[in-house]
Order: sequence, then structure tokens, then C-alpha cells
Amino acid sequence: MRHQIIMTVFAGAIMALAPGQPGEPAPIPSKPAEPAESVRSVSHLALRTNPFLSLHLLVRAAAAGNAEAPPIEGFDVAVATARKISENSGDRAWALIDGGLAGCTDVEQARAWAGAVRLAADRPNARQAEPTPGPKDLIEALAAVEPAFLEKVWPAHQQTLNAASAHLRTSLLAKEAECVADATSKLGITDPVIEIPVYLVVHAPPPGGITYRTRGGAVCIVDVSAHRGTALDEAVLHESLHAIDVASTEQPTVLNDLRARLRGDGLRPSPGWREVPHTVIFVQAAATIRRVIDPQHQDYGITGGYYDRVKPAAEAVRPVWAGYIAGTLTRDEAVSRMVDGYHPPAPPGE
Ligand SMILES: [Zn+2]
Repeated sequence: MRHQIIMTVFAGAIMALAPGQPGEPAPIPSKPAEPAESVRSVSHLALRTNPFLSLHLLVRAAAAGNAEAPPIEGFDVAVATARKISENSGDRAWALIDGGLAGCTDVEQARAWAGAVRLAADRPNARQAEPTPGPKDLIEALAAVEPAFLEKVWPAHQQTLNAASAHLRTSLLAKEAECVADATSKLGITDPVIEIPVYLVVHAPPPGGITYRTRGGAVCIVDVSAHRGTALDEAVLHESLHAIDVASTEQPTVLNDLRARLRGDGLRPSPGWREVPHTVIFVQAAATIRRVIDPQHQDYGITGGYYDRVKPAAEAVRPVWAGYIAGTLTRDEAVSRMVDGYHPPAPPGE
């Protein structure tokens, strides 16, 4: 069910890796500078496709039960390896591997990258009863199926990705500066003026949109199968706002104000610390798409079911942020009302 897939799309938000940790993703290879980059005054969304990353995320999607495995010999080995990594290391592993592989365009680059990283479970002091698969094992499993993937699967993926790119170029990207300026100004962000790599893929595990922090800056990945029409515009803008948020951690933005006020004593952070600012990103991204691209656009938080999944945050944020956008509340009033209006469910047993 498409909605089943869609409803989880934005839930993953940011998987952060502190700079300097072992196993940090490789920097994104530099791309040729585009014209006028030096005079840009707003952040720029750079759409990218990467067959190797697409293969990797198809394997991950199949391992998560979110895509069918193509009839390729050895694909089951890659899927089993991905499942093992998930079992052993969970999301932290994928923050490392997905972000790292986004910067690798072929097996050789991926091998070089995997040779320089290790997962927590690979560390010598993590005594395991049996060796656990890591990035190197996954890369070899991917290498074994890559030729068949490129021959049998990639051409159709490429067509789908070209269609998605063509849509975005006539909608979100055609009004990129206006969209970024609208959203950042509402969120109290001084645009950090960054290039935001947005990798489009045909299949990804849930959530179908995610942003990773890497040494080279944030990297966004968006599953185009999970979004159609202006929902794709909102998904790409939403992930781009995560990237801009990562690049503005030192600024007194609305998102940072909310986190500071919801962090409490730091001993027992409220779930709202993550959910309230994230819901603001949802609401603002949808509002910007409506204002700049299509007045008929419906919040993806509604059509994808996200607001239902985070009811306390949605109830605290949606009416208040709508009031702020309409000019009936000041920013300070809006922030205070969202913090005061957030009533998390009582923890189990209390
Ligand atoms: Zn998000």
C-alpha cells in the first residue's frame, strides 16, 4: 500500500555522526562548479542520481520488505548481508553506510571507502561469538550483483528518475530560491547558502526520505516511488530544510529555540525535543509548496499520515504555526505556545 510506505517517509529525520568519529562517511566528491555558484545568495538543491547508491538502497529496501528483490543471482546474499548489519548495528550503521556510499559512484570507490571505516561491532573490543558482516562484506555482495543490476534494472530506474527530475525542474527547482527563502525566513534561519546534494532513488527502506550528516555536509536521499506530484516537491524541500538546519546549528533559529526549550534538564529529554521541531518542518515545507508552487497542495503530513502518528506534536504545532504564517502570532508567541501546548503521552507505567 502506497500510503503505508508514504506515512513513514519523513520519520527518520537526521542520523547524525559526530565529526571525527571512527567510521565517518567519506566526503562527497566535489562536482564541477555550476555557473553563478559564486554569486548565489540562497542555498541550492543539486539533484543527483547514483546507480551504485540505487543498488545499495534497493537491497536495503528489499531487506526491509519495502521492495521486491529482482531476479538476479546473488541478490539474496546482498539482502541477507544487509539484514545482518541491521540486526547487529541498526540505524547507526546505515547512517554511516548510506551517507558514505552516496559519495561513491562505483565498486572501486566503495571498496576504498569501506576499507577506511569500521562499524562499532567491528571494533576489536566488541567480542563477538562469530564475525559479523560489515561494510566490506556488503560492498562485495553488491559488487557481485552490480553488473546484472546495471543491465536489467537500472535502465528502468533511470527512466523513473529522469521523469521525477523533469517534474522537479519544472516545479520546485524552477522556484527554488523563492521556496528556500520563504521557508528559511519563516523558520528564522539566515540562509547558510550551501549546496544540498539530493540523491533521487527509486526504492529506499522506510523512511523513504532521509538526511544524513557527513563530513562534506548533509546528504539527502529521496525515494521517488513514495511521492507523486507536489508531494515529491514537498519531500525534497523537507529534506533540504533538514540539510539547512544542520548547517545552521549555531543560529538562534525557531528549530533551535524549540530544541533548547524542550530539552529540559537534559536528563530525560521530552520526545517533543525531536517531534515538535520536526513537525514544524513538515508544516512549513507544505505551506511553502502551497504558497509558491500550488495553492491546492495538501500537507504530506496529512496524506501520508505523519500528523496522526505524532498527535501531541501535531496538535501543539499545526494551529500555532498556521497563526504565525498568517501573521496573527509573533515568532516568540508561536514558540511559547508550541512548547506550552505540547503534552507528551505519559510513559508506560506512570
Ligand atoms: Zn524529516
